[in-house]
Amino acid sequence: MNHDPNCIFCKIVAGQIPSNKVYEDDDLLAFHDINPWAPVHILLVPKRHITSMADVTMEDQALLGRMLALSPRLMRELGVDNGYRHVINTGADGGQEVMHLHLHVFGGPRPWKKG
Ligand code: AMP
Ligand code: ZN
Repeated sequence: MNHDPNCIFCKIVAGQIPSNKVYEDDDLLAFHDINPWAPVHILLVPKRHITSMADVTMEDQALLGRMLALSPRLMRELGVDNGYRHVINTGADGGQEVMHLHLHVFGGPRPWKKG
């Protein structure tokens, strides 16, 4: 599925719900988390609807690699210069609340709300 009309991140990708965008290209969107755990907390999402890491295939390796490889640049641009953390939650026991694959990247001076 490319677009799930019931998915909140698909709606953000489609511009139906506003977001505070950090980066966008043909395949990826990055925006600030609405409920940040740290001074800077962004989410990187594929524009195509992938439910979770459990649904990833080898065909997604370039996309996933780009999400990771892009993140340091975005954090640098946001002024985070003393480290940050990557998190991907998968499924119910993994604590995933939004069922559209997303990479959390958060950093900035501590204390952080989580972590
Ligand atoms: P997870 O528990 O890994 O599924 O994380 C979902 C994240 O999405 C949470 O950190 C939420 O704060 C964030 N979130 C939910 N709705 C929005 C939204 N409309 N805009 C930005 N972030 C959101
Ligand atoms: Zn989606």
